[in-house]
Parts: sequence; structure tokens; C-alpha cells
Amino acid sequence: MLLKKNRIRRALCTGLAVALAALLWSPMEAAAALRLQDTGEKVVVVIDPGHGGENLGTTENGHEEKSMTLVTALAMYEELLLYEGVEVHMTRTEDKDMTLKERAEFAKSVDADFLFSIHYNASEYHDAYGSEVWVSMHPPYSGYGYQFGYEVLTQLRELGLLMRGVKTRPGEGGLDYYGIIRESVSLEIPAVIIEHCHVDEVHDEGFCGSAEQLELFGRMDATAVAKYFGLKSSVLNVDYSGHQLADTGSEEQLDALLNARTAPETCRIQFMDADYENGKLTLSVSGADHDSALLYYSYSIDGGETFCKRETWPEGDGLSGSYRDSFVLELDIPPGVCPEVVVRAYNGFDIYTESNHYESPMAFPFPPAVEEPSPVPVPSPEVQADSDQASVEFKDLDTVIAVVMFTIAVVLTMMLVVQILEVKRRRRRRQNYNRQISQEREGRGYYSPHGGMRRDRYYQSRNEDG
Ligand SMILES: [Zn+2]
Repeated sequence: MLLKKNRIRRALCTGLAVALAALLWSPMEAAAALRLQDTGEKVVVVIDPGHGGENLGTTENGHEEKSMTLVTALAMYEELLLYEGVEVHMTRTEDKDMTLKERAEFAKSVDADFLFSIHYNASEYHDAYGSEVWVSMHPPYSGYGYQFGYEVLTQLRELGLLMRGVKTRPGEGGLDYYGIIRESVSLEIPAVIIEHCHVDEVHDEGFCGSAEQLELFGRMDATAVAKYFGLKSSVLNVDYSGHQLADTGSEEQLDALLNARTAPETCRIQFMDADYENGKLTLSVSGADHDSALLYYSYSIDGGETFCKRETWPEGDGLSGSYRDSFVLELDIPPGVCPEVVVRAYNGFDIYTESNHYESPMAFPFPPAVEEPSPVPVPSPEVQADSDQASVEFKDLDTVIAVVMFTIAVVLTMMLVVQILEVKRRRRRRQNYNRQISQEREGRGYYSPHGGMRRDRYYQSRNEDG
């Protein structure tokens, strides 16, 4: 009985060792077999436009993922037909429902070498952006997935999209989380999900707004497939048969790379400068993540109550795993706010670490109130110092002097005219008087000793009348 138990145990151990050896051996074997130039056989590719029928996919911002994926998939199909030595199939070419199992079974039915599932993304809080590729967590499929993912993301990076990297997502029971990958791998078909960009975030919206852009994604996917399988096209005049694929490293290294689900190790902020007049607060931000690139940051100025939308961490690249260690962050602080700043550093798995807090010693002041201009300008020393103003003043003084001089001239002229008229009047009167006297003397012969008196009276009376 004991002997039998030992034999069973030994048999189990041997079986496990063989299985383990087969598992370790198979990646290299299978990976090499996938290359067209190695097998000399036709490559069979299945393109899977994600969703369809009742399953709309994401519908954020007026988009409809099931339609977008079909446009991209058809462009990918057309482009791949231009290559030699490849057979291309599509899981659906119309708007219809298909389970993930049916898609994988279709791939199996055509003896597919690879299934490429085409998707567009949206995040729960509409704050993530960039491109990513999901692959199986199980060797050798993880290796195939990583190598293809590297090719396709290299294409998409050229468009200016943020690289979120090639990743795995474990589900229940040690199986892959994503159904299309899980179902395909269960039928021994390598499969990946290409999430081209996020339709619900402003950074990515500009990349997927037109049919032309969706088709461009499809052609880029096709180029990545051609590079992955080392295809040639005389029509396109390209030959990728010598194309080198990305190095996957050891299984452990690859697993760590594809499943770096730990938070960034550090995120720290440090005060640099406060410009209270212009409402600017400058801090230095540093962060570190040993197994994943830092891709985004966001900040709060109210001690962590609310955060701004995610911004790109300088030089963050989830494909190469690189990012800048530290950068300068200049914040606009609204007047009257006493900021308490905290920064979040995000890695490619959307896991963040919060920094230390920086509390401002004082509130940022309100800008000085703008004075209402007074209706009558009050001259100030500064204004008088101004040369233009001074010339205006001088001009005003000249005018006043001219007016005064003119008035004096007019008055003097009038006085002169009055004097002249008076002189003339007197002369005329004297002449009249003389004429009268001579008439009296000559015509009437009047003469008396009171003549003088009468003459005086006459003169006087005339004088009174005048
Ligand atoms: Zn989708």
C-alpha cells in the first residue's frame, strides 16, 4: 500500500517535472514557429472587430465602439491582403452579435496563427488616455503578445499617443481576465486586444474622430502584423523578413514587466518658489516606480479633496518603461486661496502614489482693486512731469493770453472809435453853431448887448437836448 503510494507520488512528480519542462521549453519553440520565414507556410490571421449587434462597446462622447472597430478592422484586412504569404479572416464583417467563445471558435475553425481583437477604450472616471495592448498572462502566449504588442504600439507612438504599454490582467482561477484572450488561449491560439485610444478623454479624442483616422489605425495594425510575421509585399514594396522582434527576456522578467501591479514607490514634492503677486506656486515633483513607467500626474491644491485631470508625466513611456525622475510644476493659485498641495504619480496600470503635502504659510492675496477713474482728472506731479501733458498745459495758457490780448485790443479800439466819433460830433456842432451865429447876424440883423447871454443859453439849451 505504502509502496503503491510512493509510486503514485513518484509518477506525479515526474509528470509535473515533464509538464514544467514542456512549459519552459515551449515558448522558444512556439515563438520561432510563428515566424513565416522559419516555417515557409502561409500565416493565418484572424481580425476580430470588438463588440457588435446589441453589444455596443463604449458609447462615450457620441462614439459607438462596435462601429469604430469594424471600420478599423476592414482597413486592416484590406491592407493585409496586399502582403504575400498571409491568409486573412474576420470574425464579423457586419453589425451582429457574437460571443467571445464563438469568435475564438471561428479562429480555431480556420486554423488561425493569431487573433487580433480591435477595440477603443474609455475609463471609469474619463481621466485615462493613451494606447495599450492586453495579452495573455500564460507563456508562451504572453511572449507572442508582448512581441506583437511592442510592434503595434511602436506604430501608434508615432502618431503621438501616450504609451500605456503591453499588459496582462489576471482573472479568476489563474485564468486571463479578458474573455477573448482566455477563450482563444484555451484553443491554443495566441490573442491580443488592441486598445487604440480613449474616446472619452480630450488628449485622445483628436485621434479617433473621423473614418480616415480609424482606417489609419487599421493600416498601422496591419503593418505591425507584417513586421511580427516577417511578411513581404511587392505591391507596397516592403520586406519585413529580416525584422527583429523585441526581446522578451526570461519568463520571470516578462511576467514582471506585463503585470507590474504595485503602486509607484515614491512621489515627493518640494517647495521652490511662490510669486504671490502673480499667483504662481512652483514646486519640484519627483517619483519612482521600479517596474513600471510613471505616465501621469495630477495635483490638488485643497489638501487632496479634489484633483485636476491627469497630465502626462514628462517623458513617461509605458512601452520603453522610461520616465523623467523629477520635473518642475508651476501652479496657478486663485486669489484668496491658501493652498495645500498634494500630487499623485500614476503608473501604466493606473495605480497612483500620493506625495507629501505642501502647505502654503499664507493665502495668495487678491490683486489690488482697480481704482475707478475720477470724472475730473486731478493733476499729479507725475502727470505734470509728463512732457506731452506739459505741452498741453502750455497750449492752454497761450490760448488764455491770446483771448485776453484780443479782448483788450477790442476794448481799446472801441474806446478809440468812441473818442473819434465824439471829436467829430463836437466839430460838427461847432460848425453848426458858427453857421447859426453868422445867419443870425447876416439874415435877421439881430444884435443885442445880451447876445452873448442868449448865445450862451442857446448853446446851453442845444447842449441839454443833445
Ligand atoms: Zn471594447
